[in-house]
Amino acid sequence: MTSPNYATYLHLPELLDLQRPLTPVDQQDLSDSERLFIVVHQASETLLSQVLVDLRHIASGQCGRRCHDRRAQRATRLVGALEGQLKLLHHTLPREDFLLFRHRFGTASGVQSKQFHELFARVRKLTKHGDEDGPAADPELLTALDEAVRRWRHTHIELVAHMLGDRPGSAETSGLRWLAARLDGSSDTASYTASYGSSDTASGTASYNAEPSAAEQQGACPVAGGRRSTGQQAAGPEAEGPRATEPPTAERQPVTAPRLAAAADGLGHVVVVGGSVAGLLTAHVLAGHAERVTVLERDQYEDTPGPRAGVPQSRHTHVLLTSGMNALEELLPGLLPALEDAGAPRLAVPGDLGVWQAGQWISRRNPSRPIMTPSRPLLEHHVRRRVLDDPRVHVRTGVEVTGLLGRPGHITGVAVRTRGGDHPARQEIEADLVVDASGRASRTPAWLADLGAPAPAEELVETGRAYATCVFHADHPPEDLDGFYIVPDAGQPLGAIVLPVEGDRWMVTLSGPRGEAPPGDAEGFVEFAGRLPHSAPHKWLRSARPVGRPAGYRHTANRRRRYDRPGQHNTGLLVVGDAACALNPVYGQGLSVAALNAVALREELAGKRAVPSRTLQRAVFRSARRAWDVATGADSPMPGVTGNAVRSGPAARLLTRYLDRVRAHVPHDPVVCGTQRDVLFLLAPPRTLVTSPRVLRRALLSPAGPDRSAPPTP
Ligand SMILES: Cc1cc2nc3c(=O)[nH]c(=O)nc-3n(C[C@H](O)[C@H](O)[C@H](O)COP(=O)(O)OP(=O)(O)OC[C@H]3O[C@@H](n4cnc5c(N)ncnc54)[C@H](O)[C@@H]3O)c2cc1C
Repeated sequence: MTSPNYATYLHLPELLDLQRPLTPVDQQDLSDSERLFIVVHQASETLLSQVLVDLRHIASGQCGRRCHDRRAQRATRLVGALEGQLKLLHHTLPREDFLLFRHRFGTASGVQSKQFHELFARVRKLTKHGDEDGPAADPELLTALDEAVRRWRHTHIELVAHMLGDRPGSAETSGLRWLAARLDGSSDTASYTASYGSSDTASGTASYNAEPSAAEQQGACPVAGGRRSTGQQAAGPEAEGPRATEPPTAERQPVTAPRLAAAADGLGHVVVVGGSVAGLLTAHVLAGHAERVTVLERDQYEDTPGPRAGVPQSRHTHVLLTSGMNALEELLPGLLPALEDAGAPRLAVPGDLGVWQAGQWISRRNPSRPIMTPSRPLLEHHVRRRVLDDPRVHVRTGVEVTGLLGRPGHITGVAVRTRGGDHPARQEIEADLVVDASGRASRTPAWLADLGAPAPAEELVETGRAYATCVFHADHPPEDLDGFYIVPDAGQPLGAIVLPVEGDRWMVTLSGPRGEAPPGDAEGFVEFAGRLPHSAPHKWLRSARPVGRPAGYRHTANRRRRYDRPGQHNTGLLVVGDAACALNPVYGQGLSVAALNAVALREELAGKRAVPSRTLQRAVFRSARRAWDVATGADSPMPGVTGNAVRSGPAARLLTRYLDRVRAHVPHDPVVCGTQRDVLFLLAPPRTLVTSPRVLRRALLSPAGPDRSAPPTP
């Protein structure tokens, strides 16, 4: 067990993520101490930004003496306020909560941020040399600023020492020396320490002028994901070297340092549960940051593309939205051309597709974006080949994960059993990071409960929609189109999608609301299409030949598990793909979200060797948010919808009425159509539909266009 040290306290990057007002829902999840800490951190970030605005302005040499003095005074007062906040924490936050909080939230704070370095460097320059480029400074004001910074620094050291049990002023631990060096800025540690050390002594405390250790001077400061003083990235705590960086043993708390920041090679050993699209893409990204990545998949992979038992949706239509195409091309360059070479169609929407929405066909002359329609097995096959070509990614098939190892708040591996054979062997696999990519039916909430950890809060919007998909051969395409998409809505709840896939086949998916599932026999399936709001798909289907029986699917709820929330995250665990956020498939987003999750992880890790798992979890959450908003926004007004995240109430009803007007303009208005399509394709946030003046004007002020009930012509 690792004890807390300054390094693990001082890095709280999630706090920087929390630079937004806490919503009432967020607040419910927070203890009083957590709320206090977050609010104080948010406030101090804001204050610090303003101090820097003033110091930069002074340094620019553009202001006159009065402006210069006013800004120096304000900076002094703001630094005083920063110090006051630390005192507030010192006097109101119980030490146990502080440690718990640090444990839950990971390990970073603004102290290692560029902002602090900039603050120290600027104040040092000003007080040593005055403002060389500007008017003569009032020396008294500069002295006051200098002293405010000294006091702030001293209070900070006292707070940390108090919370972590170190003895203030003793300089006995390298953690304390490290903190002092950190607060002094990275480039000129010795001189600044000496300079501020005298003030500490003068103010009645012992001096903190002990020099950093040689290792620290070389940049081996014990900061997870922080910057070395040389400007390089630092390794995590286990790369700290000797435990001399920890507080004295007697003061240690039973709190473990976050695992994710653990290994010299960044993430150490990563185990990915589930070798489907989200798991493979995540493995691909993490391979660049881990010592070893092992994918555990319960199915056996075949050599050729084909449906798998572990992915029941692989028999259903899968579109790849433009955002997903972009993300996949970024992650695995050359993948899309390879899919096209294998026969996957690329369609322009609405140019190549007949899209029926709000009682009309959308004009195909409206601007288009591409989508791709490989079959799901073909896509997964190509992703798998590309990812598993990487020697850093290992896969074990026929291995089923049966539980998590570790304890509440901290995951250390997985329990597995090998499938097949008479005596399945049980085994434990240790990991620095476990990634759950086991899909919609993820058992992580239950496995956490087995460990005694709380399950994550779940948000649910469920329409009860049921799916059926059947493959068809046809001699000719539907009308002069490449496919149909009949979009269901509250007034017209039946949906259909007819799309070409590789192998000169057509995949046809029909869907109906709760209690109106499409039948499981080919004849009944075609008959069901006769109930669609336009006859064109049914007419075409009657001329096509079904291949086999339709496959049904009923688990279409939108379900988001809030592993990102304060208090619901476990270090050493990351949940991605459908396991974190499963969406109603009718909007065709899941694959794109899996790819966007991976891109978000890549961006979060870029240039760093270790990032707390909670930060990664929040990045995953953010990257799925647009899709969640689109799917739950569209499903909330559906008849018979249930779930705790259904949007209701007067504001939701007003929004629905407005969006109905937007939809009525889509068929004939290129601006409204393009904006709505970009939202649906996850290229723009849903709020664009209510914030774009061009869309607002059209939706509210212009009449909807002519009725388009004949299939659209090019
Ligand atoms: C009917 C339907 C239609 C859809 N249509 C579209 C569409 O048009 N476009 C789109 O983008 N998305 C669509 N989706 C969504 C898409 O299929 C998913 O979002 C996507 O597959 C998510 O991938 P995943 O890797 O998270 O999970 P999955 O693909 O479900 O994979 C989970 C993997 O984990 C493995 N696994 C599970 N448990 C264990 C365990 N205990 N141990 C080891 N391995 C385990 C499984 O075998 C499987 O390989 C559709 C979904 C459905 C249901």
